Amino acid sequence: MRTGTLIIGACQAGVQLACSLRELGDTDPIVLVGEEPHAPYQRPPLSKAFLKGEATADSLTFRTHEFYTEHNIELVTRERIVSIQRDADGGEATAESGRRFEFARLALTTGAVPRQIPFEGSELEGVSYLRSITDAALFERRVHTAQNVVVVGGGFIGLEVAAGTCVVGKTVTVLEAAPRLVGRAVSEATSAFYLAAHRRRGTRVVLNAQVSRFLGQHDRVTGVELASGDVIPADVVLIGVGVIARTELADQLGLAVDNGVVVDASALCSDGLTVAAGDCTNLPNPTPKSSATPGGIERLRLESVQNAVEQAKVAAATLLGLPAEYSTVPWFWSDQADLKLQIAGLSGGHDQIVLRGDPETEKFSVLYYRAGQLIAADCVNRPLDFIAVRAMLHSGQQLPADRAADLSLPLKKLAASAVETAPAVPVLIGK
Ligand SMILES: Cc1cc2nc3c(=O)[nH]c(=O)nc-3n(C[C@H](O)[C@H](O)[C@H](O)COP(=O)(O)OP(=O)(O)OC[C@H]3O[C@@H](n4cnc5c(N)ncnc54)[C@H](O)[C@@H]3O)c2cc1C
Repeated sequence: MRTGTLIIGACQAGVQLACSLRELGDTDPIVLVGEEPHAPYQRPPLSKAFLKGEATADSLTFRTHEFYTEHNIELVTRERIVSIQRDADGGEATAESGRRFEFARLALTTGAVPRQIPFEGSELEGVSYLRSITDAALFERRVHTAQNVVVVGGGFIGLEVAAGTCVVGKTVTVLEAAPRLVGRAVSEATSAFYLAAHRRRGTRVVLNAQVSRFLGQHDRVTGVELASGDVIPADVVLIGVGVIARTELADQLGLAVDNGVVVDASALCSDGLTVAAGDCTNLPNPTPKSSATPGGIERLRLESVQNAVEQAKVAAATLLGLPAEYSTVPWFWSDQADLKLQIAGLSGGHDQIVLRGDPETEKFSVLYYRAGQLIAADCVNRPLDFIAVRAMLHSGQQLPADRAADLSLPLKKLAASAVETAPAVPVLIGK
């Protein structure tokens, strides 16, 4: 009879899942298998401290080898699982090397890969992506000897890299295809702020930039040609245009896949046996019912550390047959130069925003409302706003929009006084 859990994908979600199984009292064998050569490590610093030389591969690992041994978690690196056979009692996974792993329970934490753009010249030396430590080390070496750095994609990772390389004296250009930066995640007000802030710090940002090809000489990239005919000189190019969930094993198992492995609120896949967690999943919106308003997002992918950790905890409980439901206020952060952005909640479908503070001071929050209810906030260098909004979204406590801009009181106090004096229906102040 098969025993134990096989976790495929040894990073943020996989490590958490293994640790949570032990915390929940599971004493069966656990095998955590990953294709990368490194012990599991944190990815967020790869576009931040690592690029600035303030973190090393060693300093980014989550746990020591002794930790895995002590907790009886068998960590297997450099093995890519390529096929899985399973039935209700478990199954067997096979790695590219031919090595086989039997299991009674199976978890997929396979993450995501950078979206590739097949432009002419993509194969030139110097054209880079950033997902792994290996990618980051290669990019860092390339930047070291480069003068002109071009970042294709004005999302979080692209902007973090731009901010990090700009401070080391490079000429940095960000090319964004959309009319604004980070358009999928933040409001126009936040986008406009980041555009101005990056330009102030010396980064050139081109919006509505349609890349047509990468130019090169002797197999090395030398520039990026835009549809307008402009050529931006480049010794190194970073492409940061989003990620694609890794679903190849889920596809092979016949699990439901729709822009990610489809899971329910208990992290269970469509076969009712396998669990999945982290960047690879497409999940029901976890926002607590108390703060969810009609018209919100029903299913989504969340690419964040918080999601990988919290969903993995739920997946571990589900594997052990314990009741668990993923319910949390999604949050995210991005560090760009000295600007700390913290986002609480999901702003999709908002019909009103309130600006709290002056973006010119580089310390402000954008609060998002839907049907008069606070649903999310982008907080730039305002950590107390972030903490207060997160707590309000957790508890369902409301903050009327007409009071949110008042900087004379902390948000926490404003929310508390709103409860004492709240009118039956929250007052709205324009759209
Ligand atoms: C540069 C960068 C900066 C980021 N910054 C932030 C940030 O500031 N804040 C934030 O919240 N999030 C940030 N993120 C996102 C965050 O790191 C991810 O959301 C998180 O790592 C997801 O964890 P995961 O375990 O689901 O997936 P991953 O970390 O991608 O791990 C999946 C692992 O599975 C392995 N794998 C896949 N398929 C197989 C297979 N068939 N066999 C064996 N192994 C396999 C992969 O190689 C990988 O090691 C950042 C990500 C990057 C790349």
